[in-house]
Amino acid sequence: MTDPRQRVAEYLKWQNTVSPFLLPKELLVKRPVAPAPVAPVAPVASAEPVAISSNDGPATGDGPAAAMTAFAREIAGCRSCRLGETRTNLVFGDGDPHARIMFIGEGPGRDEDLQGVPFVGRAGQLLTKIIESGMKIPRSSVYIANIVKCRPPENRVPHKDEAAACIGHLKRQIAIVRPEAIVLLGKTALQYLLGEEMSINEARQQVFHYEGIRVFVTYHPSALLRNPDYKRPTWEDIKKVLVFLGLPVEN
Ligand code: SF4
Repeated sequence: MTDPRQRVAEYLKWQNTVSPFLLPKELLVKRPVAPAPVAPVAPVASAEPVAISSNDGPATGDGPAAAMTAFAREIAGCRSCRLGETRTNLVFGDGDPHARIMFIGEGPGRDEDLQGVPFVGRAGQLLTKIIESGMKIPRSSVYIANIVKCRPPENRVPHKDEAAACIGHLKRQIAIVRPEAIVLLGKTALQYLLGEEMSINEARQQVFHYEGIRVFVTYHPSALLRNPDYKRPTWEDIKKVLVFLGLPVEN
């Protein structure tokens, strides 16, 4: 018959509810420790820019993200103009297909042609700085594209027939994104999207719309690299975009 003291000790070991100091050393067992409840973590204030997409939800089968992906596949092999013969990569576009703002430039340069992404060279880095440091929004929350998707040789301005061949691609992207505001960067974007021949300085003073979308016009970042005097007026233009979208404005 089992010693009653041994049975009590076994019971206590099984229950493991008694102080280990009261149990004989040989009966001590390691209690499986239940994980401590995890306290909810308060959101940490971040210096990162705040995303402003109109819809941050996952892409659905028929949403803008899926439509953009399908369209990128559709035109991946485009050779509708001579620029298709000399490109390294077709530079489709970059950013959030649900974006509230769309930036449109002229065409890919050397870095963009090599990487297949718009606005990644020096001018692109300046645009990113305007968006992230100036507007305080992540570049990934806007959509960026160009009038032509293939690099014109030696970075020349796209010819009229090249822009005419490619503009339908851009218009389809605008129709997919349906941004609240479009920012045209430079004279070529103004000329080929809106058919306006005026100078940027004139255009900056005017109100334009494209398919019901408010269009702002400002200098191309490469113009700012050549002439830093354009930085102040460019920032004034960008502030108008922020006010239009109801976003905070810093001077
Ligand atoms: S520039 Fe546009 S139209 Fe011309 S080949 Fe490239 S994608 Fe096609």
